[in-house]
Amino acid sequence: MIKVCKFGGTSMADANAIRQVKNIIDADDSRRFVVVSAPGKRFKDDIKITDMLYRCYNEVVNLGTCKKSFAVIRERFVEIVKDLGLTIDIESVLDKTEQEIDQSKSPDFAASRGEYLSAVVISAFLGFEFIDAAEIIRFDSHGKLNVDYTDDKVSNRLLGVDKAVIPGFYGKNFQGEIKTFSRGGSDITGSIIAHGVKADLYENWTDVSGFLVCDPRIVHEAKVINQITYKEVRELSYMGASVLHAEAITPVMKRRIPINIKNTFKPEDKGTMIVPNEQYKEGLNDAVITGIAGKKNFTVLLIEKSMMNAEVGFIRRVLSVVEHYGICVEHLPSGIDTLSVILESEQLKDGVLTDLVSEIRENVNPDYVHVIENISLIATVGHGMARRHGTAATLFTALAEEKINIQMIDQGSSELNIIIGVANSDYEKCIRAIYKAFVK
Ligand code: ASP
Repeated sequence: MIKVCKFGGTSMADANAIRQVKNIIDADDSRRFVVVSAPGKRFKDDIKITDMLYRCYNEVVNLGTCKKSFAVIRERFVEIVKDLGLTIDIESVLDKTEQEIDQSKSPDFAASRGEYLSAVVISAFLGFEFIDAAEIIRFDSHGKLNVDYTDDKVSNRLLGVDKAVIPGFYGKNFQGEIKTFSRGGSDITGSIIAHGVKADLYENWTDVSGFLVCDPRIVHEAKVINQITYKEVRELSYMGASVLHAEAITPVMKRRIPINIKNTFKPEDKGTMIVPNEQYKEGLNDAVITGIAGKKNFTVLLIEKSMMNAEVGFIRRVLSVVEHYGICVEHLPSGIDTLSVILESEQLKDGVLTDLVSEIRENVNPDYVHVIENISLIATVGHGMARRHGTAATLFTALAEEKINIQMIDQGSSELNIIIGVANSDYEKCIRAIYKAFVK
């Protein structure tokens, strides 16, 4: 049995949390590969080490040295090492790191040092080998992960290693430069390692007891999702649930390795099991739906043209205009004579919206283009919905009772989710109504 364990920023935040991590690792001999984040926040207004490292980079750009900001990082690591009673010469490691940040003039290099230092400390504390992610995780020249190369490197390097700590969040490109994933990317590193060592389980340790049915800031009593499929997590993460990086599913998915989201500070909680469809056990969750997630601030371009469906290439021409502006399309629900193009409002700033609409008018000569702004999208996700009648009825009745006006509906044919568009001002109310209707 092999388990890969990834510990997030709060699990690495101070000596107490790190001791807790050691207890967890020591409790189970199959926890052989440990991936760590940089120390995160210890309290609400604390600063994450990664944020501090980006500041270091800016300081180098402006002043030529990161001395001032790095002092905060230095103090944090020195304190952790002292509190853990470790005898490693952390000051020398920190001196070297500070110098390298000054010289590298790279934001990715600077940001990566939080995970690097974290891994140096915890490998000493656990007595595990330190394996640098730069050795085994490879990016191509476009900053994308080189999957095949990385898979080979990870399995070859880790084969025969009994126990190791690997820093999360970064790797190297073929030019030898350090590159990072997007923020929260240590989750992806953990998943890559789990795939590479053919783990039986990828444990992702964080500071919550799993995915919640919806955002607890909106529904305080939101329940934990006991079990969820890979695809459902993709949908929920994409729509804003932030427990796991949206790209962290892909590597483990290839080997059908389940992910268990666990709480470092409540290790006895079962957390959420993320499983492939074929491993899903019925009856573990409390509701028909699995989760609700959403995002605010979308714009809908409602394009209407009589006999649109008979016009060859109509949709393609609309989409080429959107593509020409380098804008991503979020959803594309269509009717007989209507097509709604849903876009993130952020992409339409500084006059882009007006130009886009007039170019669409010129190109496809629609009867009209109606622009609806300040729309929120809310996804109700659950693979159980496909096999059950009345789910949509329950959802829409709940919203009608709350007098919420639904401006758009999009249900993919997979029946894994129903996405609705409502006014931003109805966002929270809508999520509460759906929760109440489905979760007992
Ligand atoms: N430390 C990085 C961040 O704050 C990556 C991670 O924690 O996963 O985004």
